[in-house]
Amino acid sequence: MRRKLAAGNWKMNGTGASLDELTTLARAHPTPTSDILICPPATLIHSAVKVASDTAIHIGGQDCHADQKGAHTGDISAEMIKDAGATYVIVGHSERRQDHNEQNENVRAKARIAMDTGLTTIVCLGESLTEREAANTLDITGGQLSGSVPDAATGHNLVIAYEPIWAIGTGMVPSLGQIGEVHDFIRARLERRFGPGVGRSVRILYGGSVNPGNAADIFDVPNVDGALVGGASLKSADFSAIITALEASI
Ligand code: PEP
Repeated sequence: MRRKLAAGNWKMNGTGASLDELTTLARAHPTPTSDILICPPATLIHSAVKVASDTAIHIGGQDCHADQKGAHTGDISAEMIKDAGATYVIVGHSERRQDHNEQNENVRAKARIAMDTGLTTIVCLGESLTEREAANTLDITGGQLSGSVPDAATGHNLVIAYEPIWAIGTGMVPSLGQIGEVHDFIRARLERRFGPGVGRSVRILYGGSVNPGNAADIFDVPNVDGALVGGASLKSADFSAIITALEASI
């Protein structure tokens, strides 16, 4: 049985005052039946960990470098994220792939070092609208999956987030059938590569314009083990409603 995961990605949003949202969220979910994760900007990881201590909320980073230290101005390593008290990290988000030209090989190296450091690693995959319209969704996500996920993956250290690029921050969401098709495909690929034990234990999140209004339907789709949520994770009331929908689907 895979434990569901509601993950919030604050992206480049939030200052110290935003940590009040975390406090409110923690109060609303004192004993969750799913895992709850907030990935604030790097500047807030340390203080978010403090605010979330003695609560059920996990804290994560939004990216890490493929090296643990060195001359990489502005970057942050997996070791630093762990040292700040976080337990998860996102790698390969489409905004990183686009804005920083990250390729599968680089994402895989980041995921590998994150796993070696003991962070649960969320690897993001997803097609562009052009790729979907050209019926290339499975080819693209399959290629990203094999290229970005290291051999060291297990059900404990890996989470996959399927995030169609055209659905991120746009209010556009694939049909439930389209979401199900890709999640089933990812599950089959994971089982083929890692064997049924590991393949069935890796959680697969859906991400892309999840909100309190559409969450329940998405969580009913087989092989959807939770969500990676951007905009709707910034307000505790919205994210809380998504968590409630997730827990109702268990
Ligand atoms: C994301 O950035 O991972 C995301 C899914 O964003 P949004 O929920 O705002 O579409």
